[in-house]
Amino acid sequence: MTDIIQLLPDHVANQIAAGEVVQRPASVVKELLENAIDASATEVKLIIKDAGKTLVQVIDNGKGMSFTDARLSFERHATSKIKSAEDLFQLNTKGFRGEALASIAAIAHVELKTKRSEDELGTAIEIEGSKVKSQEVSVTPTGTSVAVKNLFFNIPARRNFLKSDTVELRHITDEFHRVALAHPNIAFAFYHNGSELFHLPSENYRQRVVHIFGNKTNEKLVPVEEETEVLKISGFVGKPEYSKKTRSEQFFFVNQRFIKSPYLNHAISAAFEGLLKDGYHPSYFLNLTVDPKTIDINIHPTKTEIKFDDEHTLYAILRSAVKHSLGQFNIAPVLDFEH
Ligand code: ADP
Ligand code: MG
Repeated sequence: MTDIIQLLPDHVANQIAAGEVVQRPASVVKELLENAIDASATEVKLIIKDAGKTLVQVIDNGKGMSFTDARLSFERHATSKIKSAEDLFQLNTKGFRGEALASIAAIAHVELKTKRSEDELGTAIEIEGSKVKSQEVSVTPTGTSVAVKNLFFNIPARRNFLKSDTVELRHITDEFHRVALAHPNIAFAFYHNGSELFHLPSENYRQRVVHIFGNKTNEKLVPVEEETEVLKISGFVGKPEYSKKTRSEQFFFVNQRFIKSPYLNHAISAAFEGLLKDGYHPSYFLNLTVDPKTIDINIHPTKTEIKFDDEHTLYAILRSAVKHSLGQFNIAPVLDFEH
C-alpha cells in the first residue's frame, strides 16, 4: 500500500478558505472596506453593480502597497498586520488572518491598482481564480483600488445560491452601515449601478448616526457615556418611544469593530425593562472600548463574535450606564420616581 495523504494545491486551499470568508457579495464589501481602514484611508469609495454580483470595488486614499507587496497580498496567510501569535492580543487593525484577498481572488476576477505616496508609479495586477494574469507598473493615484468582478464565477452552486438583488443589496448596506458607524471620522461614498446611495463626510458620531438613519433620528438619541477601569462606553440609545419591532438599529462596536452579542444585548434590554411595549426592541449605537488583551477576536472567520474575559462585569456596567442615561432624560418608568 502506498501513502495516500497529499497537500492540497494552493488554489484548492484558497477556494476552501473562501467558502468560510466569502458567503456573499457583502462579505467582499466588508473585507475590502476593512482593508481600506487598516491602510489609514481618510476617504473611501464603494462602487457596486448588480448588488455586487457583477462588481464590488473599493477605492481608498490609504498608504498603498509596493510592487512586491501587491503581489504578496494575494498569498494565503500573507499579512502586514501581525508578526507573532502574541500580536493577536494587541490588535489595532481589523484584519490579521491574511486570508481575505487570497480567498476572494480564488473565486472571482480581481483587479488591484495601488501606489504608495513615496512612489512615482504604482502597480496593476489582474488575478482570476488564483491565477495571476498580469502584473505591471501603472500610473495610478496614491492609495488602493480593488475591483472584484464575477464573484463565484468558478463555483456555479454558490453563484446560483445568491439571493435577489434586493436581498444582496440589503446585506451590503448593512455591512456599509457597520463600517461607516465605526469610523465617523472617515469620509465614505457608496454607489450602486451608478447612483449615489450615501455620501458621508468626515463628521462626529451623532452626525454619522443621523446621516445614516435620517434626520428624525436626531431627537431620539440619548447619550450614554461611562468610563471605568475595564470599560469605556460612548454612544447613544434610542428613547423608548422610538423602539422598533425589528432589531435593525442595534449596534455594538468593540474597539471599533462591529460585533454581535446576545448577552450584552440583554444588558440593554434589562436597562429598558418596563419601558418598552411587548415585541419592541430598543435602538442603540454603542461604542465599547476595552483593553485588547481582555478579548479574543479570533474565534470566528468573519470576526463578528468575540470572547470577553469578564462578560459579567461588562454586562453590569453597561446596564447601569444605560439605565442612568435613560433616567437623566426623565424617561425612567413612573415607579422609579415615587420613592
Ligand atoms: P489581512 O487584512 O488579514 O492582513 P488581506 O488578505 O485582507 O489580509 O490583505 C493582505 C495584506 O494586503 C494586508 O495585510 C495589507 O498589507 C495589504 N492590503 C490589502 N488591502 C490593502 C489596501 N486597501 N491598502 C493597503 N494595503 C492593503
Ligand atoms: Mg483584510
